[in-house]
Amino acid sequence: MERTLYRNPDRAGFPPNLTEQERERFSWEAVASELEGGPGLNLGWLATDRHLPARAERLAFRFQLADGSRQELTCAELSRQTARFANLLGRLGIEPGQTVASLAARIPGLYLAVLGTLKKQAAFSPLFSAFGPEPIHQRLSRGHARVLLTTRRLYEKKVAALRERLPELEWVLLADAEEDLAPTVLSLSKALAKESDEFEVAFTDPETPSLLHFTSGTTGMPKGAVHVHRACLTHFATGRYALDLHDQDVYWCTADPGWVTGTSYGILSPLLHGVSCIVDEPDFDPDRWYRTLAEQKVTVWYTAPTAIRMLMRLPLKPREVYDLSALRLVASVGEPLNPEAVVWGQETLGLPIHDNWWQTETGGIMIANTPGQEIRPGSMGRPLPGVEAAIVQRTSPDAVEPVADDEEGELALKPGWPSMFRAYLAEEERYRRCFVGGWYISGDLARRDKDGYFWFVGRADDIIKTAGHMVGPFEVESALMEHPAVAEAGVIGKPDPVIGEVVKAFVSLKPGHPADEDTRRDLLGFGRKRLGSAVAPKEIEFLEVLPRTRSGKIMRRLLKARELGLPEGDLSTLEGAP
Ligand code: ATP
Ligand code: MG
Repeated sequence: MERTLYRNPDRAGFPPNLTEQERERFSWEAVASELEGGPGLNLGWLATDRHLPARAERLAFRFQLADGSRQELTCAELSRQTARFANLLGRLGIEPGQTVASLAARIPGLYLAVLGTLKKQAAFSPLFSAFGPEPIHQRLSRGHARVLLTTRRLYEKKVAALRERLPELEWVLLADAEEDLAPTVLSLSKALAKESDEFEVAFTDPETPSLLHFTSGTTGMPKGAVHVHRACLTHFATGRYALDLHDQDVYWCTADPGWVTGTSYGILSPLLHGVSCIVDEPDFDPDRWYRTLAEQKVTVWYTAPTAIRMLMRLPLKPREVYDLSALRLVASVGEPLNPEAVVWGQETLGLPIHDNWWQTETGGIMIANTPGQEIRPGSMGRPLPGVEAAIVQRTSPDAVEPVADDEEGELALKPGWPSMFRAYLAEEERYRRCFVGGWYISGDLARRDKDGYFWFVGRADDIIKTAGHMVGPFEVESALMEHPAVAEAGVIGKPDPVIGEVVKAFVSLKPGHPADEDTRRDLLGFGRKRLGSAVAPKEIEFLEVLPRTRSGKIMRRLLKARELGLPEGDLSTLEGAP
């Protein structure tokens, strides 16, 4: 398929982003030396105290809260509040290495807790606030959480009844309560008010655990990935190269901290660069989102394909209604970004969307369309400096070898990048199995073209084998997305006695397009024309919405289980699940 190569957006006034010479000169040692001068490598310190006194009055966070109010924190205030939180943990008897968890929406208390916990060298484990009691119980007990930050409503509704089954959970901090609820259920504001706003961060070995993040559960039971403070090197370098963060930027990451993007890039990476972060608490709403971009003069925006696809459904021409002139870079992660979406960005926002690839396990962006290079719509970009990525195939159970350019294989990374996960919680064997022949095997299939761009093919688990072909759902979904009626598509292989699997697409339509036989026939024909009959979907089913994870990923395993009448598996991360 012919691809347009977009030229870089206008970056007038900025130095070039990641030139080829810079790629060659890059070393993690050089990044580390930029972050020297503190107590070892402490993510909490680097994100806050390091900016004092020079950036004391700079805005660190502006929260747009669900009740319509706003709250702001300068770097100096953030440093003091997080010091109080770290002191509070000390008072509660929390030792370095123990776990503090959160169950909260994007409220200020959560952000203080993450950074205060890191300063204290305890590990932070954020959960989506919409989780029901069982997923909460499972994650708190698996993570051995000793403190939980939440709100009064969430505590009473979901956590109180679990306390008996959570003997290790000693303390609950309520971000919105004025008074303590019980001897171990404290008002956060009252507790913080008693603490000093000075906290001396102790020397932090870079291998100290920092975050415990559960994966999205797209392919099965979520895994608990353990990260360490050394990850700051990746957060810093990728903030510079993939997100192009500069001193005066206003940055908005739409991800929830319940998902790794919301912490690594909603909190840590931007704060390491001392830029101002917008946090929007309520759920997605196109008008508020566009208004936020315009009114807050957001310059760098990091979001996800699912949100982009939702915006694409609307006939709205945002640039006719909102002033998006401050916006300089739009980046996306989490799922493959259909080429159609990159084109839409260019036409509708005036900027192409820069896809990048990483996982909970990688702790930071690994492959990216950086602003300094041309975008090939549909490609994830090139590996960032300091990251060695390859496409490999297995030659024996414990050996792999690279495949030729343009061939599909497993996307693998050479261990050694600083933000690599150090364990799967209580799943040692599973962790070990991720490493084969000196490579970390990501579980995704991809190919690399001769210019070094990586193209996502699919998750190894989702690949469809039909009539002797291997078909990646992404290719089929992207082709369907080019049809004017299609808002979103999820594609699976349905077992078939003759051809192995039949390609089946679940499609949700844009407003105004009927889910009828004519549309179905039209789509089947459209698919055949774009993809050829071997790869095109043979069946199409219309759904109002596709099942997705809370981090916005289409859950193909659930589409498949429902299609085949099989058990639905772990649904803790399903959006809308109780
Ligand atoms: P689980 O591992 O529990 O099944 P998950 O893999 O979805 O869940 P995350 O770590 O949140 O959990 O997601 C990482 C995965 O998301 C990647 O392995 C990849 O499959 C997908 N992904 C992320 N970014 C991209 C991208 N730019 N293009 C294609 N896929 C992407
Ligand atoms: Mg995964």
